[in-house]
Amino acid sequence: MSEEVNKQAVFKKRMSYLGNGDQYFYKEPLHIIKGDDVWLFDEAGKKYLDVYNNVAHVGHCNSEVVDAIAQQAALLNTNTRYLHHNIVDLAEKIIESMPEGLNVCYFCCSGSEANDLALQIARNYTGQTGCLVTENAYHGNTTAVFQMSPEDCSETQRESWIATIPGPEAYPEHEEQYIQNTTAQVKILKSHGHSLAAFIADNIFSSEGIYLPKKEYLATLYALVKELGGLTIADEVQSGFGRTGDFMWGFEHSEVVPDIVTLGKPMGNGHPISAVITTREIADSFNHDYGYFNTFGGNPVACAAGLAVMQCIQDKGLVEHAKIVGNYFQKELSRAIGSSEVIKDIRGSGLFIGVEMKDKATTTLTVERLMNNGILVGQTGPQNNVIKLRPPMTFQIEHVDLVVQQLEKIHLSL
Ligand code: PMP
Repeated sequence: MSEEVNKQAVFKKRMSYLGNGDQYFYKEPLHIIKGDDVWLFDEAGKKYLDVYNNVAHVGHCNSEVVDAIAQQAALLNTNTRYLHHNIVDLAEKIIESMPEGLNVCYFCCSGSEANDLALQIARNYTGQTGCLVTENAYHGNTTAVFQMSPEDCSETQRESWIATIPGPEAYPEHEEQYIQNTTAQVKILKSHGHSLAAFIADNIFSSEGIYLPKKEYLATLYALVKELGGLTIADEVQSGFGRTGDFMWGFEHSEVVPDIVTLGKPMGNGHPISAVITTREIADSFNHDYGYFNTFGGNPVACAAGLAVMQCIQDKGLVEHAKIVGNYFQKELSRAIGSSEVIKDIRGSGLFIGVEMKDKATTTLTVERLMNNGILVGQTGPQNNVIKLRPPMTFQIEHVDLVVQQLEKIHLSL
């Protein structure tokens, strides 16, 4: 069977057997069969530079992570009802990286599960049920977390315990308006019988169009939420593990301390593992009422992957690296295409960069052409007009140059 026939066969089976088989990237989906650091390879051996994949945080098929998983899988994998050093060692490492007071971990398997648990914890502690999210947020796909994800959950599907507020793009010009609006939204929640339990935000505001907020945005909202009786949840599924440069966690840019932090995606470099971190007081209140157990969450293999990822970030200085390469990336993008009429803004932080284009059609065309030229990027934002550049953290200056050259070439033909 030729490789091309094989690809067609995979596509056909996918469409007939998978519930969500049509959820693929590009008009003509890619058939990727191998990964190596920042590179992906299709069935014909064509090489693509991965400028999209934040899950392969320390590089596709990173040998330290692969070895850690393989060795632990060959020795033991079981649930967390037994003592095991991997889970406590990983919890300790995560807690050491957090601000003081955030000193208790729960482990789960996906970002959605972590956010679902965070909501349960916040509801338990506050005794309330309402939740505040940003207007185009995405936090996951469980029944509850779908509600917290207006990017997918339309207004007609939305339940009365959810209220939305704008993302950080217009802050601080309209600070008073933000405060009044947030207070009004919380009043509406209350009138529906849902006083505020939590405010949750992705701290690089990826689905809002990629914004590192001005410090005061989160600080003001956190103070207000506290005053209104809710807890603050930092969703670090996108912005965590040094992605935004300078700091390990996205919320640190804003000098705030959340009540609850959720982690996921890059945590196991592709192995499913996620976590919720909170204070001992909040955890004790939850543990008193619920006996949380998760069959796969925090198993020895998943935690071996998590430990190897943390070690790589530390050994390779990837937080600093994200800042240096990310700054160079933004500078080069501005130089090459910054004055173009089709580009409206270049923004972000570290290795999480958004290039806002004039409209969705131009963005889609650019994303497709980049793929044809061997470069994989994403597309995001409420208008889907932002190119998402979020490569593995091992991305180098030479890779930035490849992307910028291609973008420059493509944009000349738009
Ligand atoms: N939070 C954010 C900010 C996300 O971007 C995502 C996934 N894109 C999730 C949560 C959900 O994570 P998962 O797909 O692992 O459930």
